[in-house]
Order: sequence, then C-alpha cells, then structure tokens
Amino acid sequence: MVTNSKPDTALPIVGENSLTGQCWSCGDMRAAHFCVSCGKLQPAVPTDYFTFFGLPRKLNLDVAELEREFHRLSRKLHPDLYVISSGPEREWSLEKSSQLNDAYRTLRDPISRTAYLLKLEGVQLEEQSKSATDRARETGQEKKQLVPPDLLEEVFELNMELEEFRANKKMQEDDPDLRRQITATKQDLEQKLAATDSELKKLWDRWDAAVDGKEQERASVRDGLVALLNRRKYIANLVRDVNQELEA
Ligand SMILES: [Zn+2]
Repeated sequence: MVTNSKPDTALPIVGENSLTGQCWSCGDMRAAHFCVSCGKLQPAVPTDYFTFFGLPRKLNLDVAELEREFHRLSRKLHPDLYVISSGPEREWSLEKSSQLNDAYRTLRDPISRTAYLLKLEGVQLEEQSKSATDRARETGQEKKQLVPPDLLEEVFELNMELEEFRANKKMQEDDPDLRRQITATKQDLEQKLAATDSELKKLWDRWDAAVDGKEQERASVRDGLVALLNRRKYIANLVRDVNQELEA
C-alpha cells in the first residue's frame, strides 16, 4: 500500500476558520460547520469531500490528522446532541454526519482518494475503462488491449499455465512444478503491484506541486494517474484470480 509520508506543512484544516457566509442564527460570519460567533450548527450544503474537511485538493495528506479531525467532527455533529433542538438543526446534523462518514471513508484510502480527485477533475475512471473495452471489442481484441503492454507476455504465459492447471484439477492430478511456476509469477505480479504504489506517490507529489499551476502539467499528471490506476486495478484483479485458482 501507499504509505502516507508526512506532508511538508501541517495539514491545513481550516474548517471552522474558513468564512463561508452568514450565520442563520446570529447573522455573524459563519464557518463551514459551526458559527465562529455563536457556535451554532450551520446548514448542510452539498460540498466535495476535500472542502468538507477544509482541505485543498491535494493528494498527499496526513491520514492521522484526518482521523483526528473525523473523530472531533463526529462528536460535534452527532445527531444525539440535537435531539431537543428546535428547527432543522437535527436534520442538518444527520446530513452532515452522513457527509462526514462518506468524506472520511473516501479520503483516508490512497486509491479511493486518487480516484475521487480524478472524478472532481472530470475524469470518469469507469467510463474510461468501459470505452476502452468497447473499443477493444470493436477491433476484436477484447481483452488484450486492456493488458498493460509490458505485461502482455507474462499474462499470456500465465493464462496458458492456468489453463493447464485447471485441466489437471479436472483430472485430479497435481503438478507441483506447475503450481510453483504459477506461484512465482503471482509473486512477481505482487511486486509489480507494490511498484505501482511508489509510482503513485511520485504522481501525487507532481499533482500537489501543480495543483494551482499550468493546465498542461495538470493534464499530464491526470493522464498519468488514470493510466496508473487502471494498471493497478488490472494487476490486482489478476493476482486475486490467481489466488482463487490456487486455493480452489
Ligand atoms: Zn452565529
């Protein structure tokens, strides 16, 4: 997995210091979740998960700090605190608690965080891979096109071995050499999977440096991230399939 190294600066949780309008209750300037003057809960508004936590759209983030902020907000937004409140506050607390859970679940995981950022940037990963599948189907090369080019040979051989492995199983024969060979290939793929994580970290750094910068660099990093996530998913699925085959 990607390890989250410490960012250069502390996680800029602005949250309750970011002024986002007027408080419904006291009319003073309010912050995202609670009024800075009277402390009252503010209306739940649709917002992206980075904004919910008062974070910039960067990919390196301090997960321990995010977790602390999650727990702090969980306590403060808990619907039980608003049982006796009049008006819509209880409903807002329910809505915000649900937003909080979704935001935390998405941002704490390195892969879902990256996929989410791409979605905010207008890149639909599923659609990309779906259109890639459609294109492949049209040209009659259904699956081969989805295989990362540098893995073509290895995957081809692996498929042959798995076919033999399944045939042996049907005949209730065991070929220890074949099993060893498949296991070795699987381990190699696991190493390649781990390598995608350090590649991902490099792209994160490039993204964070370019986040407010030139569109050309941003587009180049976005393309890199899409290719890497697709590659990662492909290898992860392959390893999963081989494991199922070996354990069955
Ligand atoms: Zn107020």
